[in-house]
Amino acid sequence: APLQIGVTGGIGSGKSVVCAVFKALDIPVYEADERAKWLTEHDPILKADIQRVLGKEAYTPTGRYNRSWVASQVFADPALLASLNAVIHPRVFADTAAWVNEHADKPYVVKEAALMNQRAGDGNTLDKIIVVQAPVALRIARIRKRDPQRTDSEIQNIIDRQLSDEARFQIADYVVENDEAQLLLPQIIRLHEVFLQQASN
Ligand code: ATP
Repeated sequence: APLQIGVTGGIGSGKSVVCAVFKALDIPVYEADERAKWLTEHDPILKADIQRVLGKEAYTPTGRYNRSWVASQVFADPALLASLNAVIHPRVFADTAAWVNEHADKPYVVKEAALMNQRAGDGNTLDKIIVVQAPVALRIARIRKRDPQRTDSEIQNIIDRQLSDEARFQIADYVVENDEAQLLLPQIIRLHEVFLQQASN
């Protein structure tokens, strides 16, 4: 099996940019949040399970996942949220495992997720974790440029709910500094060489 490398970091830290470099190096990237969203709309068994937990209204008449309605239902109901996660998470874990198996010929694969608290557990079997870091002010400025409709306080609220930089640093095997002082590309190339070396051992 290929080595499994996690990429995580706070909102706007540059996870997607880092993963784009891995893709350019011909390394497959599993975008966990995107993939989970895709599964909620396209996996018939998961759709049925979600409707069993939340009711038919979880999907629109045309079959789209009614994300805002679901959010409003689980917002103040931790038990319902737990039930929802209990059907979604195992499905995503199984999908991740199948995806890794499809790339058995690669030296390593990358899994990108905003939520990643540990190498093992929560469906993860990661060998190493890369944490992407950038100063909060720079992250906010980059997100505002990317998503002009978002406000500073909205972004700050998300940051406050995410893992702290300190906590993320604790789980990091490698840190990529995505500030304006250090070039990203040489940092990723260096990691690529490290992982190729690890995979060949
Ligand atoms: P999210 O958690 O919101 O998905 P993310 O961690 O994936 O964010 P990116 O989308 O990669 O972050 O980066 C946020 C924004 O900042 C993007 O518009 C990206 O193009 C820009 N950006 C990231 N890194 C740099 C950089 N080194 N120089 C200039 N712009 C950058």
